[in-house]
Amino acid sequence: MIRQMIGELNPTPRILMGPGPSNVHYRVLRAMSTPLVGHLDPQFLSFMDEICNMLRDLFQTKNRLTIPISGTGSAGMETAFVNFLVPGDTVIIGVNGLFGERMSDVAGRCGAEVIRVEEEWGRIIEPERMIQAIKGNPKAKICAVVHAETSTGAQQPLDEIGSFCKPREILFLVDAVTSLAGCGVKVDDWGIDICYSGTQKCLSVPPGLSPITISQKGMDHLHLRKKKIQSWYLDLTMIERYWGEERFYHHTAPVSMLYGLREGLRMIFEEGLEARFRRHRTLGDRLKMELEKLGFRLFAQEGYRLPMLNSVYLPQGMEDLPVRRRLLNQYSIEVGGGLGQVKGKIWRVGLMGETCQIQNIEYLIETLKEILA
Ligand SMILES: *Cc1c(COP(=O)(O)O)cnc(C)c1O
Repeated sequence: MIRQMIGELNPTPRILMGPGPSNVHYRVLRAMSTPLVGHLDPQFLSFMDEICNMLRDLFQTKNRLTIPISGTGSAGMETAFVNFLVPGDTVIIGVNGLFGERMSDVAGRCGAEVIRVEEEWGRIIEPERMIQAIKGNPKAKICAVVHAETSTGAQQPLDEIGSFCKPREILFLVDAVTSLAGCGVKVDDWGIDICYSGTQKCLSVPPGLSPITISQKGMDHLHLRKKKIQSWYLDLTMIERYWGEERFYHHTAPVSMLYGLREGLRMIFEEGLEARFRRHRTLGDRLKMELEKLGFRLFAQEGYRLPMLNSVYLPQGMEDLPVRRRLLNQYSIEVGGGLGQVKGKIWRVGLMGETCQIQNIEYLIETLKEILA
């Protein structure tokens, strides 16, 4: 049988104003299409070092083990738990949205006993509640929270929890998938021991890599553990030998993805961290204001609203799916719907990395005016 030829891939470009992936600059795409070299080629080894150095600056840390994990943000999450937990360990997890929920699932699969500190979706978890939970469970090995809860748009304060964990045995684990490169993530200052992110949100690089950083306290835990890490692929004790001096082969590095990350990071530092955070803050405020004028109501707790992920209740009488479908099909704008318990009730409008531009806000607002009229 002769199979009918399928046409060359040619997707209609979209404005990606959802919860990720975000738009990617052509410089990143161009870097990804440059010639492959071997993953042990000396040229590539210097690219790796450059990437790690830029990631350290981005995480605001001196941690030696600061590398991209091969896989999306969830691979970073899995790495963060599977390397530190053995069955029977206790973990305290803040759950105020889908990603706290996912962390509980991951930790539970590692055989840990999960103590959940729950809060209503859209609200932060009062740091004092996490601290009380640690005091009540002195044997707990990890205390984990999500910095930017992408399912709700709430920004979790971290420094108080970090200061409490710092002089203690317990490891402070933070999900910074949506926050990294969109607002400050001060790993060293805030006493974070394990922190992971993803490339497809504010870094504006396609999905596929998950930057992670581990403190010295975390490394000590890792090297002292007696039982082999359950996951072969995500075993940091083996992966660190490839990214470190030894260049020991573990798995083939995703070369083109790393080219893309290198270029994305270069662009972040060309702009400057402070300027980049300011852009997200200013335009995040602007979008919220414009949406409120159209009758949307802000969903996340006041004072703790994320700049890069704007969660809003729909105006009275507006339908979720038909409007989002029209935005996409007619205007090529993607916005995110609600997940889980807020499905159909809220939208999540992303302003991440490259997407975070005044033209995109103006285009979305004009389009919504037209649709609502
Ligand atoms: C997107 C996201 C993840 C998961 O990342 P994937 O790239 O989808 O695997 C984890 N945590 C948070 C907070 C996220 O926003």
